[in-house]
Amino acid sequence: MSPRRNRQRGAQPADHPGPGRYGLEITEEWRGEDWVVRQIGSAGAVKHYRCPGCDQEIPPGVPHVVTWPRYGDVDDRRHWHRACWNARNRRSARLQRSRNAPRY
Ligand SMILES: [Zn+2]
Repeated sequence: MSPRRNRQRGAQPADHPGPGRYGLEITEEWRGEDWVVRQIGSAGAVKHYRCPGCDQEIPPGVPHVVTWPRYGDVDDRRHWHRACWNARNRRSARLQRSRNAPRY
């Protein structure tokens, strides 16, 4: 085995999606932007996160989704309950309003 051929497998912590293309990612549109949505399984949920949809904590071990704007900063990523993400158009009242929110 050549030590040079070390692929990046295992190089990233589970809770750091990064811009790379790995894991199960889909793109959904929300508020006029493309958002990358990545499913986090129970094994990948190792920390407490705060869901912006319901403002409740997501405890470790709970499968959820992490999202970030495709053309934005990965540091903007947020962890959501799956149900809250699916219902984001109804629930996203105050979060996200700061960045180029359309005014209808
Ligand atoms: Zn939630």
